[in-house]
Amino acid sequence: MYLILFGPPGAGKGTQATILQLELGLPQLSTGDMLRAAIAAGTELGKRCKAIMERGDLVSDDVVVGIISDRLDQPDCAAGAVFDGFPRTIAQAQALDTMLAGRASQIDAVIELKVDDDAMVGRMESRVKESGGSARADDTPETLRRRLEVYRRNTEPLLAFYRSQGKLKTVDGMAPIPQVASEIRAIIGGSTRKDVNGLTG
Ligand code: AMP
Repeated sequence: MYLILFGPPGAGKGTQATILQLELGLPQLSTGDMLRAAIAAGTELGKRCKAIMERGDLVSDDVVVGIISDRLDQPDCAAGAVFDGFPRTIAQAQALDTMLAGRASQIDAVIELKVDDDAMVGRMESRVKESGGSARADDTPETLRRRLEVYRRNTEPLLAFYRSQGKLKTVDGMAPIPQVASEIRAIIGGSTRKDVNGLTG
């Protein structure tokens, strides 16, 4: 099954994607992690994206769609994946639908982690403090503000896109991590798809 974890920066998408990967064996496809790996490896792609990411802007749709398309061709993604931080624009969402349709598949559910704005900013600030400011170049108060603006403008409209497809499920992202994980399990367990039943038991 192919799932999207959806929510603003700091909502806990990465944490829940990691849990799903451990529990269901679904690979976590985080475009942010892939881009940071490209930067760390000093690739051409990384060089092109570094400044954009440090500003808190989005890298181009072509770049992230290309990365995801290559990743989906890997054998471990044949039965499903959890998308974390992708798609972030309507164009990316449409490209993802096309990519999956070409693989005789589709998005099964989009799980929105709903959080309240103030608490989210608090979470992000503590992430900055815990990392000593060194873990992520884009975890600064200025960039965080920019990333939230970009989220509201470019990414939030995807909620209506997926709602209209009947795929949007919302969970309380403010709940403790294990509770969020169990709400997600309940949503996935409610799926009628064969490949999911038995995994979630
Ligand atoms: P994340 O780790 O998901 O918060 O992503 C960190 C940064 O990587 C974002 O602020 C963007 O600059 C870039 N990025 C990650 N995913 C995408 C995407 N799907 N589309 C465009 N830019 C992305």
